[in-house]
Amino acid sequence: MSRKKLIAGNWKMNLCAKKAEDFANEMKGTVNTDAVDVVFCVPYVHLSAMKGIFAGTKIGVGAQNMHYAASGAYTGEISGEMLASMDIPYVIIGHSERREYFKESDTEVNLKALAALEAGLTPIICIGETSKQRKSGRTFNVIRKQLAFAIDEMSADDMAKIVIAYEPIWAIGTGDVATKEQAEEVCALIREEVKAGHGQAAAEKIRILYGGSVAPENAKELFSMPNIDGGLVGGASLKASFEKVVHFE
Ligand code: PEP
Repeated sequence: MSRKKLIAGNWKMNLCAKKAEDFANEMKGTVNTDAVDVVFCVPYVHLSAMKGIFAGTKIGVGAQNMHYAASGAYTGEISGEMLASMDIPYVIIGHSERREYFKESDTEVNLKALAALEAGLTPIICIGETSKQRKSGRTFNVIRKQLAFAIDEMSADDMAKIVIAYEPIWAIGTGDVATKEQAEEVCALIREEVKAGHGQAAAEKIRILYGGSVAPENAKELFSMPNIDGGLVGGASLKASFEKVVHFE
């Protein structure tokens, strides 16, 4: 079966209101494709404005994080229910920057991913090894472990509703992109693990992205690999040339 590719931009904590609106208007004029799904995961404060600017276009809007509780005394947090109530379809969960700087654990990532599903959102769940783990030959074990935690308690049907982003930490924001073979080998492993746990049909449906220094120059070779269903793109999603990542074919 063929999976529709997804190219998700992650703006991280960048762009103040006016710059975000100007950039979104520029993207609105250049990003136009039915071949792939395109989404910008923006800071919470821009969700509403971006929904307005991208209304009627092929560009979707997503969030970069959420809390696992539906509501309650969690000052400063945002719930999946809140995102769903704004018709925000996607949310990044467990980005390595959140794991590192905000000490998000594998258990928390799982709770958030389950809560996103419960709210009807598509979680883009990030997993990936450090440079040290890769150099010591532990990549596959790290990925297996992070994946097992992330999708714990999910059903075979849920596999079609989630996205896994393989993001080697050494490749994020460094310009040190994984080779297409390195990225493909881990994305293939993730699909094999899903197959082992949930069967062939679920494994064929789940979308697995690669993230880490994706840019116009490398998008085509990465996205042409059989187990890579698109990308999670940080720095390059803040540039006009993001349009070339989206129209990579
Ligand atoms: C990311 O933010 O998930 C990411 C992959 O960043 P970059 O594309 O800048 O490496």
